[in-house]
Order: sequence, then structure tokens, then C-alpha cells
Amino acid sequence: MTIQIGEKQQQHGAWRMYMLQVSLVVALFVVGLYIGIYQRDRRLVQDQILISAQAYFKSIVLTRLWNAMYDGVFVEKKPGVRTNPHLINAEIKTVDGRTFTKRNPAMMTREISELAKTHSFFQYNITSLKPLNPDNIPDKFERMALESFENGVTEAHIEETRDEKVFFRYMAPLETSKACLTCHAIQDYKVGDVRGGISVTFDITAMKNTLRNDRNIIIALTIGTTCIVICIVLFFTIRLMRQLQEAHRKIAELVVTDDLTGLANRRHFFERLDAEIDRATRYGNNLSLIMIDIDHFKRVNDTYGHPAGDIVLAEVARLLCANIRTSDLVARYGGEEFAVLIPALNAAEACLAAEKLRVIIEVNSIALEGPPLNVTVSCGVADLQSVKHYQANLKDSLIRGADKSLYQAKANGRNQVVTYTVGSEKQLPLV
Ligand code: GH3
Ligand code: MG
Ligand code: MG
Repeated sequence: MTIQIGEKQQQHGAWRMYMLQVSLVVALFVVGLYIGIYQRDRRLVQDQILISAQAYFKSIVLTRLWNAMYDGVFVEKKPGVRTNPHLINAEIKTVDGRTFTKRNPAMMTREISELAKTHSFFQYNITSLKPLNPDNIPDKFERMALESFENGVTEAHIEETRDEKVFFRYMAPLETSKACLTCHAIQDYKVGDVRGGISVTFDITAMKNTLRNDRNIIIALTIGTTCIVICIVLFFTIRLMRQLQEAHRKIAELVVTDDLTGLANRRHFFERLDAEIDRATRYGNNLSLIMIDIDHFKRVNDTYGHPAGDIVLAEVARLLCANIRTSDLVARYGGEEFAVLIPALNAAEACLAAEKLRVIIEVNSIALEGPPLNVTVSCGVADLQSVKHYQANLKDSLIRGADKSLYQAKANGRNQVVTYTVGSEKQLPLV
């Protein structure tokens, strides 16, 4: 029993470990999956932001190129339009008296940037480490980017938080083209030199918020999916475990049960016999064994056939089972032989029990096809104390003592109980 409980605990431990491992694998898999999805989502958004910044940058470079192709363009000097003091020949007057002022690429860039800024969209800034116009002095990010361009880096970008808003700042170098030299030749620039850069800044707070919402949704999905999948896996595992336990129980039962009678089989009988002898020896108790054999059973088979013989065996088994105590064990010992193990009783007490069983079987009519049949049994009883003097082990001694008495009961004319007594062993050949 203790061994069985230990085994059960071990099995439960193994199942618990299995379920834990499965849950862990499921959790890791789901978490990994969603982290992958989130990372991809984030990368897509970041790529999109960068592509937008590059597009803004290219569009302003193209506009500047167009301006530089004409060495600057003139715009009418209406009220509020200023003339750039750093430019030579910055103003022209037409014959009809209107004044036009020059807009070079740098000034045009700044004016477009201011326009974009007032419309809260994006902002350009043209800057250089050696600016012609002091307004174009680089800020910290622009300076770092410009310095990195001198070392061959082709673009730079960062995210900046200002007033609880997130801005994306992008910068790429402005290379000197032939058209640029009109103004910048005085600074010793040659075609291809990095003359400065244009930074693009725009608000990405909305995209960041979307990304944060996505992340929260994905965390919720991860927890939800993990719980659901683990519950499903656990549900099926527990169901499988119960089915296996039931199958295990049935197999264990089959191993110790006799098919025909449903009694304990010979193998189980010997296991219990060992255990009961151990217990009796340890606590100084007695233990009795009754061997029961159906009288002239061969005749039953010969007269009524084997199937009828089986019915008789099953019925005798049922009667034995129904009339012993739960602490006793009745087993099918052989063909038409049964063994009843009675803990704590001596042979004289067990003899009374055997007699009761014998009478019950004798008076019970067994229904067969045709007239009911009555069978009788012979019983041999022995207890541990009376067979102790044998030189064999206690198990063999007890069986031989009971066998000897059964033999005597048969010899005395059958349908009776004989109890083993010391002295009769002289006729009993020991193996
Ligand atoms: P005795 O009174 O001396 O015990 O005579 P007996 O005929 O009962 O003993 P014997 O050993 O000569 O015969 C036992 C018979 O039990 C022989 C065998 O065919 C029969 N038997 C053994 N197992 C089964 C079984 O499972 N089913 C049936 N129907 N018969 C069985
Ligand atoms: Mg027999
Ligand atoms: Mg018999």
C-alpha cells in the first residue's frame, strides 16, 4: 500500500513536471511569437519614418538644385520681403519701377522651412560647420551629424522629446555642386566637398502613440493567448492523464484477477500470503489458511459439460466471496481449488469459518440448464503456529499443512473440514 501511494505521488510529480514544462514551452513560444510580431511592426514604422525623412530631404535638395541652376531667383520685393545682406547684387529694379530681390538656395530653404513650421508640419534647416550666414549655425545634433559626414557617414537621425512631443530629426550632407560655387567658391569649396547639411525635423508623436498602443495590445494578446493555449493543453493533458490512470488501474486489476471467477488469482494470493506472514511474524499474530477443493468436479464437467463447470466455479467463488470478512482474502488457487487467507485467526477458529463456508456451498443449489445442481467441497485448514516446526519457510509450510488436511478430508470421504494437527506431518512429504 505504501509502495502504491509512493508510486502515485511519483506519477503525480511526473505529470506536474510535464505540465509545467509544456506550459513553459507554450509561454516561451507565444511570447517569442508576439515579440517577433511587435519587433517587425516597430521596424516597419521606423523604416516608414526614415523613408519620409529621406523624401523630405530629397525634395528640398531638388528645389535647391533648381534654384542654384539659375544662380538664385528673384522675387518681387513686396512689403515684408527682406533683401539678403550677404548677397552681392541682391536687388534689381525693372523699367516700370518694381524692385526684385534675390533668393539663393539657402535663403529659399529657410523661408520654406519657416512656412512649413507655421503650418505645424515639418521643418528644414540648412547648416554648416562654416556657415556664410550666422543664422545657419548648427545645433548639437546637427554639429554631431556634420562632423560624422566629414568621416564618410552618409546620413544621421535621432528622436528628440520636446514639450511631451516626439520629433524625428534627420540629416544628410549637402555636397558642393558646380552651381553652388557661385556663392561658396570664396570658402575654398570644390565640387564634391561636403559643404554642410540639411536637417529635417517632424513630429512623430502620433506614430509613437500608435506604436505604444500596438505594444499594449500585443502584451494583452500574449497574456491572453498564453493562458488560453495553456488551459487547452492542460485540459487535454489532464484528460489523457485520467484515461491513462484508468487504463493503468484496469491493467493492475487484470494482473491480479482471475478471469472466470473475478477472485484474486494465484499470483496475487502469493503476494498477499508473503505480506500477511510478514505482518503476523512482526506483530506475533497467527494466520490461517483454508484450502477448498470442489468434490468430484470432474464428474460435473463430464456430465454437464465444461461451460456448466465454469458456472459452478463462478457460483462457488461468489458464495466464498460473499461469506468471508473484508480483511480475509479468497483466491482461485488452481482449477477447482480455492484458498482463503484469514489473518489473526488460529486453525480452530478458521475451522469454524471453513465449516460455515462448506455448509453454505452444500445447501446452495446452482441453476444450470435442466435441474439445479448441488456441489460439496472439502476443506483443509492450517495455521502458522502449527506448521512452525517444519524446516521449510513459513509460506511453504502453511500451504503444505493446509494441503495435507485437505488430502485428509478427501480421504475421509469428502464434504468435510479437516484441521491440521502436529504429528500428522510425518506422513507429509516435504519438498
Ligand atoms: P476430487 O473430489 O478428488 O477433487 O475429484 P475432482 O474430480 O474434483 O478432481 P480432479 O483433479 O480429478 O478433477 C478436477 C477437474 O477440474 C479436472 C479439470 O478438467 C477441471 N477444471 C479445472 N479447471 C477448470 C475450469 O476452469 N473450468 C472447468 N469447467 N473445469 C475445470
Ligand atoms: Mg483439485
Ligand atoms: Mg476436486
